[in-house]
Amino acid sequence: MAKYVYGPVPSRRLGQSLGVSPIPEKTCNYNCIYCQLGKTTNFTNHRKRFFNPKDILAEISEAIRQERKIDYITFVGEGEPTLSSDLGILIEGTKKLTDLPVAVITNGSLLSLETVRAEMRKVDVIMPTFDAGNSKLFRFINRPHKEVRFNKLVTGLKKSRLEFNNELWIEVMLLKGINDSVETLEEIKGFLDVFHPDQVQISIPSRPPTEPWVTIPDSESLNLSKLILQSTQILPLNEVGTFDSRPFRTPKEAILSITKRHPLQYTQALEIIHQFNIDNPEAYLNMIVSKQMVKILDYRNSRFIYRNEVWDSNF
Ligand code: SF4
Repeated sequence: MAKYVYGPVPSRRLGQSLGVSPIPEKTCNYNCIYCQLGKTTNFTNHRKRFFNPKDILAEISEAIRQERKIDYITFVGEGEPTLSSDLGILIEGTKKLTDLPVAVITNGSLLSLETVRAEMRKVDVIMPTFDAGNSKLFRFINRPHKEVRFNKLVTGLKKSRLEFNNELWIEVMLLKGINDSVETLEEIKGFLDVFHPDQVQISIPSRPPTEPWVTIPDSESLNLSKLILQSTQILPLNEVGTFDSRPFRTPKEAILSITKRHPLQYTQALEIIHQFNIDNPEAYLNMIVSKQMVKILDYRNSRFIYRNEVWDSNF
């Protein structure tokens, strides 16, 4: 089973996205209050080689060879992908393998480094996050590593725009009572005017956030934010599309692999199990839950399946 590549999975912004994770589980230089992957366990701002890039490229090559429907190859993973010092080699290697567009979903913090911006030159879409227009709110929402500064984040995004011809899509995560007031949105807009992104996408915490007190904004704030930020898109709560279970040998393997990077809605998990012609998908899912491989979380009248952190990933 693939270790670094997963999917293609349906993505709210990239259609059927083949995810590539060049970093170990929850390795990040942020610890965002809304993160859907839980608290950052490997809190670092140090770039390094985590895995052999040849192994990752071999898995990408194999996924392409299988001719599954892929709209984008997306470097994302289980934290911040730019922490991998091999990202440039991986992007370059992927471009040699295929004409498919390549995207990088990043928190943007390391774009202030010239090396990181240079590595991004061949990427088709860079997708950084920008949730706050001042340092205090940035630290409150994103809880960055002490070496990450708001002014460096701003500098990196400004330079990225100036140096690249590729697409820059900025995502703003909107949180009720935290960054959805007119003043806060206008402050963010002031920076977006400087960054000149090709798209501004507003997101809301669609899955259980790390901090339970984080909630989604009401529809009035959402409409207001769309106007003030001149957003091109409010991202839908759920993805449209299907999970491809063909790369997996069993439903258990599919559910554990996907939930490692991507919490599933309960119905999505059942659909995946169903693809293996299991008679009673619900009973099968309950069996995985009872063995504590995954856990169920209820959030906003929906049910989600999360991989249990205590479960050894080397299943
Ligand atoms: S949301 Fe992204 S940047 Fe924030 S802690 Fe989670 S993985 Fe890191």
